Amino acid sequence: LLETLADQAAVAIERTILVADVEAARLAAETDRLRSALLSSLSHDLRTPLVSILGAASSLINYGDALEAKDRRDLAGTIQDEAERLNRFVQNLLDMTKLGSGALKPNADWADLNDVVRAAVDRSGKLLKGRQIKVDIDAGMPLLRLDSILMEQVFFNLLDNACKYSPPGSQVTIWARTSKDLALIEVCDQGAGIPEADRERVFDMFYRVEATDKQTAGTGLGLAICRGIVEAHDGTIKAEPGLHGAGTCIVIHLPLGAPPTLDSNETAGV
Ligand code: ADP
Repeated sequence: LLETLADQAAVAIERTILVADVEAARLAAETDRLRSALLSSLSHDLRTPLVSILGAASSLINYGDALEAKDRRDLAGTIQDEAERLNRFVQNLLDMTKLGSGALKPNADWADLNDVVRAAVDRSGKLLKGRQIKVDIDAGMPLLRLDSILMEQVFFNLLDNACKYSPPGSQVTIWARTSKDLALIEVCDQGAGIPEADRERVFDMFYRVEATDKQTAGTGLGLAICRGIVEAHDGTIKAEPGLHGAGTCIVIHLPLGAPPTLDSNETAGV
């Protein structure tokens, strides 16, 4: 009997080692994928705006005196836009690093979803290029327990995508209702949509849909950051087709906490 038990134990140990080996190989392959994706993303996403900045700066230095005021403003505008793009990219990388190391902890407080969404909409002004943003948040939406700064980043990233991947002049809608113990929030656009096969993977770091990859600049980090932040709030985030199967809806579920009371230490602003 002892021998049989020993044999069984040996087989079980071998199997465990095999599973561990397979898992280690999978992790190594994933690490390799992330490393090369990071390197190509870094070189492309840092170089492209830097080349534009250097070009515009050198035109200003060499020909600035001879240029019309409007052309000088255009060149200065290019420098500002591209520097902002660099800034967003570096901020995304920093957020990602913090999320990965668990250092990005939500500093949650009771917040009005309208304020958080409004702040993100205000920041996205430059991206709109004729697109309309419709905010439709149920008047009865209670205060939510969240980190306003991080959630503003989520809505900003989603609005950025909704604008980047939909035609100018189309409509982007931010819709929110409550259902039982959840806040349901959707950011929907009328763009090309995300193919079903990619809908889960777009939340992975550096993943970009092949068809849009060449046409639109991006890092593949925005949605990964959104997922990290939403999950840090015990929420969920997924991509769905928009109304009548057209466009994209990013659907977020956040837990509704117990409502704050006036004498509670957790009341907003205390
Ligand atoms: P980025 O936009 O910088 O590439 P994201 O992580 O924000 O990175 O998005 C990952 C990919 O998901 C994008 O490259 C794009 O292919 C796809 N995607 C995201 N949002 C949308 C959207 N609203 N409509 C269509 N495709 C989208």
